[in-house]
Amino acid sequence: MNQAVDEYGVIGHPVAHSWSPFIHGLFARETGQALVYRLYDVEPARFQPAVREFAARGGRGLNVTVPHKLAAAQLAHELTERARLAGAVNTLCFLADHTVGDNTDGAGLVCDLTANLGLEIRDRRILIAGAGGAARGVIAPLLGLEPRELVIGARALARAEELAQQFAALGPVRGSALAELPAEPFDLVINATSASLSLELPAIPNETIGAHTSCYDMAYSRSDTAFVRWARERGCARAEQGWGMLVEQAAESFCIWRGVRPETQTVRALLSERRAPPGT
Ligand code: NDP
Repeated sequence: MNQAVDEYGVIGHPVAHSWSPFIHGLFARETGQALVYRLYDVEPARFQPAVREFAARGGRGLNVTVPHKLAAAQLAHELTERARLAGAVNTLCFLADHTVGDNTDGAGLVCDLTANLGLEIRDRRILIAGAGGAARGVIAPLLGLEPRELVIGARALARAEELAQQFAALGPVRGSALAELPAEPFDLVINATSASLSLELPAIPNETIGAHTSCYDMAYSRSDTAFVRWARERGCARAEQGWGMLVEQAAESFCIWRGVRPETQTVRALLSERRAPPGT
């Protein structure tokens, strides 16, 4: 008799561009785990019933992406500490009698910045542009690395200040309107807006980039994002896309679900080949 294969997936809207099935497929092969991982494109109004249906038919876990991360935090019966702090969930785990929500975005970003890219966070000045679900997930882990200052820049000052206030007990964080950021370079500028998804550039002042500034776009694309191009044109020290974060947050989710941590270097290398423009 065929044994049922454990089901996982990513739920978002839109979600067709997601590399998660590819990444989790490679993790499963590498670790010898039998599972399937599918895409679920679900509009916000259908999010809760779609998750409940998935769990009711025996689904084991879901990654949650734009725009459902806050709704997923509402839906979970139990939140891990980092998901509670973030108020956003990117990993749902369906247990026998309840659903646990976790957030692996921060661990993924921190791993990519520090272990993969070798960037120093301690005592550095950091700007996060954007105040959405992804920003929420990374603020506490970044503050845990003791930056000198963490500034959240958003289009609306009130949104940035509100978010900064939520994390104020954890370290030196403040909010600012993007247009009112100080006219001096940061050590690290992270684009956590979704502007890259619509090929746009957030209105981050040019003066925030200096020759020593490292830039990181959480978004990822086969070619340079508008933010990466803009940062390089400003003469930054380096500009990276969020491919490494994508793989590392996925590895953290996989570990939560399967109890085994996959090696990530091979997948990161494969993705870097696949994302190269044709002919290069
Ligand atoms: P959300 O929709 O929750 O938040 C988007 C944020 O971007 C909001 O603060 C919004 O501002 C802001 N924004 C959108 N357009 C602009 C613009 N033109 N100028 C300034 N601000 C803008 O999305 P997420 O936080 O979940 O995702 C953000 C990005 O991070 C996406 O590109 C996503 O793909 C990426 N991401 C990457 C991951 C990875 O593993 N590499 C993991 C998670 C996310 P406002 O509040 O004013 O509307």
